[in-house]
Amino acid sequence: MNPLPYLKRVGQVQWDHYYMAIARTVSQRANCTGSKVGAVLVRGNRIVSTGFNGTPEGFQNCLDGGCVRCWERYLRKTGRHSEIPHPAFPDDAKALDLCICVHAEANAFLAAARAGIHTDGTTLYVTHRPCFVCLKEAVQAGVVRVVYLNEWRATDHPVLIQMYKLLAEHLRRNDQRNFERLCAQSEFAQFTAVTPKDPNLDDVIGSVGEASMLTGPIDDAVESSEPAVNVPRAPKRSKAGAPVRASKAKGRA
Ligand SMILES: [Zn+2]
Ligand SMILES: [Zn+2]
Repeated sequence: MNPLPYLKRVGQVQWDHYYMAIARTVSQRANCTGSKVGAVLVRGNRIVSTGFNGTPEGFQNCLDGGCVRCWERYLRKTGRHSEIPHPAFPDDAKALDLCICVHAEANAFLAAARAGIHTDGTTLYVTHRPCFVCLKEAVQAGVVRVVYLNEWRATDHPVLIQMYKLLAEHLRRNDQRNFERLCAQSEFAQFTAVTPKDPNLDDVIGSVGEASMLTGPIDDAVESSEPAVNVPRAPKRSKAGAPVRASKAKGRA
């Protein structure tokens, strides 16, 4: 397949990357001493809700020591062992649900609930592979597709790994795209490299104008009427860096 018609839309990020970039921005608000995670719930190509990880509203921030487990893990990580108040407190993957922090995905579901917006048929974009709890909650919230960016070992227990696979397969319904890692970090950076500080920005904007003239409004109308799930992606994404590099090279030329 010739990728050119698609890649003519230089600077137009694919929907999956678009929403993942938003999820990554959302993650910057995380109030947790652990990983900063961001989640975006999308239905019909519209954002339903967002969430990042941290302590519940009205509680002291995890970053300020509001979560015992996270704080002690932080002390352990930074070698301040003598300051750990509860040395026997569990700190492993199995203890993941034994902390006061609410995960990004759960916060996205709950934000929708508080606003009275249903989550059936949504796609969940999340910066990290969901944990066991969030994955089962996603299924139960009616999420039909999960896309994540960073690999993360959800659990080490073989039984839980098996159950996790069942949840993933349930989501996939024979289509791998319904539970998948978007791409490698480095590849994602290439797709979202256009920032206000990008020295090639002017060139890229020029290319966008040219591209929209080339593709015309019909392409745009077709694309915007399709849900995120059905939007075509760059072919053979493992090699998709190549066309993007090519388009960037064009911008620089
Ligand atoms: Zn915590
Ligand atoms: Zn989780």
